[in-house]
Amino acid sequence: MTTTFHSTRSTTDSLTSKQAIRKGIADDGGLFVSDSLGETKVRIDDLAGMGYQDIAARVLGALLPDFTEAELADCIAEAYGEQWSDERITPVKPLGEDFVMELFNGPTSAFKDVALQILPRFMARTTPAGGDADEKIMILTATSGDTGKAALAGFADAPGTAITVFYPEGKVSQVQELQMTTQLGGNVQVAAVRGNFDDAQSAVKSIFADRELAESLAQDSHVALSSANSINVGRLVPQVVYYFSAYAQLLEQQVINVGDEVEFVVPTGNFGDILAGYYAKLLGLPVKHLVVASDKNNVLFDFLTTGSYNRNRPFFQTISPSMDILISSNLERMLYYLSEKDARLIAMLMNDLKDYGCYEIPEELLARIRRVFGTGWADEDQVRESIADCWEKNKYVIDPHTACGYFVMRQMPRDPLTPRVLLATASPYKFPRVVNESLGLAADGTDFECMDVLAEATGTTAPAALRGLETADVRFDTVVDIDGMTDFVRQAADRL
Ligand SMILES: *Cc1c(COP(=O)(O)O)cnc(C)c1O
Repeated sequence: MTTTFHSTRSTTDSLTSKQAIRKGIADDGGLFVSDSLGETKVRIDDLAGMGYQDIAARVLGALLPDFTEAELADCIAEAYGEQWSDERITPVKPLGEDFVMELFNGPTSAFKDVALQILPRFMARTTPAGGDADEKIMILTATSGDTGKAALAGFADAPGTAITVFYPEGKVSQVQELQMTTQLGGNVQVAAVRGNFDDAQSAVKSIFADRELAESLAQDSHVALSSANSINVGRLVPQVVYYFSAYAQLLEQQVINVGDEVEFVVPTGNFGDILAGYYAKLLGLPVKHLVVASDKNNVLFDFLTTGSYNRNRPFFQTISPSMDILISSNLERMLYYLSEKDARLIAMLMNDLKDYGCYEIPEELLARIRRVFGTGWADEDQVRESIADCWEKNKYVIDPHTACGYFVMRQMPRDPLTPRVLLATASPYKFPRVVNESLGLAADGTDFECMDVLAEATGTTAPAALRGLETADVRFDTVVDIDGMTDFVRQAADRL
């Protein structure tokens, strides 16, 4: 197979998927894409009843052809095993006349587990690009909540890797903070930062750009820094699998026949989750529409309705923090494929985004995008109402991110011939206070008291890993200034 990857902004690179995964992002700032995506379709006629791991082997085999079958089988077995609380991994359940696919049954109760459980296993099977065979990859992440914990859980004690996570002090929920500060593993480091998420994120970006630091880390500690951000090919492709799994489950439940089209509604931030749905479509899955559901930070809604992307707008911190994003990185890959692989156009648009904070796409490109992508958004009141409405109508509890999708789905006209699947991206128990407030339940007291109230009132059970945080040992209590982050990274590398 000759699948190679290059930047969305130029066609000069020619990397294997292993190299692209190790490198993360192209030198020109573009995202790695492969031009042969979709040339070979994935078989769907025999999907009914097929298990998640077998579907994963088939889909990942098509997307990452330089991994051997045995390597992929090992990665899949390690990533999608006992750490998931449902053997279907991403179970599809009825939700009134529609369906919901739960992506939150992994170890940290958010959908990022699907990708971050397997990315470290991919990483361990890549080899250093330079001459240093002892080189370790140290993942560096600033997090506003979900990503940090999912990355910690994935990389903890993963061979050849280490991970350092920074979160803004006092700006994440009690549950989210405890999820990170109690993380086990010999290769993990966690610190709170005095500042907000943007400060921490900017500092991490400048650490990545610090050539001198990179050289000293390589020489003194055999460490190379990398990112577990959703721009990495290795984080994107595992998400393609669950779209096929949804289809397999709908076939098995005799909701559809082979070839029937399905619609997906996706709570969206960085555009990784929904882009994976587009990849599934390119691979031959009968996907009619993909619906982008945003929160009050509705930059994507404006873009998909006008063709003009503009990040010069107020940023809102909302009750769906993982969707509070103004620059939706993976959009760049969608634009690349839908512009018929026009790398020059993408380079130009991204340059405009950098220089002016905005860009505008040609009309015919917008028309092509809109044939596939629908869009809608929910403000915070609508999110709360949606949580209550979903519980009243379906006796199903959703979290504030999933609620954005629920709201948008309810606004859309329903075509009785096309099943709709709402992607549920987090357990409601990750955000018990907001959920309780929305349902009119007691919401004072600790997050753990909120969890117990929610469980009692709805007859559901908190994931054991979340409920158990109340009594888990805190391992990390370091607080650093923004200026101190580089030294913290240096020390973390020394300790390896
Ligand atoms: C990350 C996240 C999202 C957004 O996913 P993207 O791939 O960034 O679009 C939605 N919901 C939850 C709970 C998340 O953690």
